Amino acid sequence: MKSSINPYTQEKLYSFKELTTKQLKEKLQQSHECFLEWQETTFEQRSDLMNRAAKVLVENKTLYAETISKEMGKPISQAVAEIEKCAWVCEYYADKAKDQLKDEIIETDAQKSYVSYEPLGIILAVMPWNYPFWQVFRFAAPNLMAGNVGVLKHASNVMKSAELIAEVFTEAGFPEGCFQNLIIGSDLVETVLENEWVKAATLTGSKPAGGSVAAIAGKHIKKTVLELGGSNALIVFEDADLDSTVKTCVQARFQNTGQSCIAGKRLLVHQNIMEEFVDLFIKQVRELKSGDPMDENTYIGTLAREDLAEDLEKQVLKSIEMGAKLLLGGKRNGSYYEPTVLTNVTEKMPIFKEETFGPAIGITAFQSDEEAIRFSNNSEFGLGVSLFTKDTEKALKLAPCFEEGAVFINELVKSDPRLPFGGIKISGYGRELSSHGIREFVNKKTVYLKN
Ligand code: NAP
Repeated sequence: MKSSINPYTQEKLYSFKELTTKQLKEKLQQSHECFLEWQETTFEQRSDLMNRAAKVLVENKTLYAETISKEMGKPISQAVAEIEKCAWVCEYYADKAKDQLKDEIIETDAQKSYVSYEPLGIILAVMPWNYPFWQVFRFAAPNLMAGNVGVLKHASNVMKSAELIAEVFTEAGFPEGCFQNLIIGSDLVETVLENEWVKAATLTGSKPAGGSVAAIAGKHIKKTVLELGGSNALIVFEDADLDSTVKTCVQARFQNTGQSCIAGKRLLVHQNIMEEFVDLFIKQVRELKSGDPMDENTYIGTLAREDLAEDLEKQVLKSIEMGAKLLLGGKRNGSYYEPTVLTNVTEKMPIFKEETFGPAIGITAFQSDEEAIRFSNNSEFGLGVSLFTKDTEKALKLAPCFEEGAVFINELVKSDPRLPFGGIKISGYGRELSSHGIREFVNKKTVYLKN
């Protein structure tokens, strides 16, 4: 049985009976049968349905947003924004997929040679709870448009969101089996992956989960895309515009109550502006309103589960024990964790070395560009980095020095349907979104015609 528990009220919200192995196989059969017809549909037909999915999302955004807030504690205004972004990703691929997947002519000795992009079949998506709708839609929109069909194994604590997502596609008119929610635990992921009709998997989540799914997929020679954790640095150079930088850094760390893979988790500040920057930063963090996730004015909700708040508490306490100075916060109450700021943070402390998945940030001073780059790259993760400076020419010159999937200048790292998203190192491999993402799960077929 899978259950959703409201982390703010502790109320048990919904229970879901897990699929038996037999039911699971029947669902995969249904997906496969759907694929045989779906792959023959035109881009125009798929676009029409995907635009309708966007409409369903907009029409029901209050219900969907409230479900997110109740299941995992996201403040309601941020949950509404999440649904609106899902509608955008549907509209974006409805419009762009045909062009992104058109045959690519390559001049050779042949009369004609080109690459065509053809769908593979059923793609498994294993997804996390932190953006329960967005993570799924950024997989589903490009992949269904590419002619694949999707099956979802969502995180166990957001199964109501998973059910509603599947209903979006049904209501929009997608054929039965085109997108299915599988109510299963991680123990049945292997059964899905070894099924002959399942051709590939994408997982967003932790390193252990990614490693396990990739190993199983590898055994069956099936492709994976992994979007794992991150420990992005926010680098504030001496000449940064402080007002806008502070605002962006606060948002980068504290939106979604800090539970984001691309959150700015390590704040690196030039020592000459440290005092002024920290004063402004603390002032803004103090103003973030904590409270009931269902309240429109709440910015900091609870963490999605109490054990996650406990993990964060341990990382902060250990860092303080190792010499970090607590400037703000540091207290936990059940699944709520206060917005917390530490300074005097060194590279060995958990707040620097490990991924922190909640509203806590450590500040480290640097003295030179070289030192900032070294600190930033001193991480197992490689998802993204933000650089804040007025010298944009210098920032662009420094961009190649960072071991990251993305460098954002004077902006927080964010996902955008138009841009590729993904990491290197233990942040994973492969890309989602953009023309790069839509081509991950297609057969790039070479066609060669000789006279
Ligand atoms: P998680 O425990 O890895 O869970 C993610 C998903 O994987 C859930 O559906 C989970 O199912 C499933 N799972 C867990 N262990 C598995 C296994 N051995 N085999 C197959 N499936 C397995 O991660 P989380 O704690 O929910 O999410 C936080 C992590 O995700 C953080 O590290 C964060 O940075 C990362 N994340 C990355 C991105 C990105 O785009 N790069 C985005 C968001 C989050 P159950 O719930 O049933 O265990």
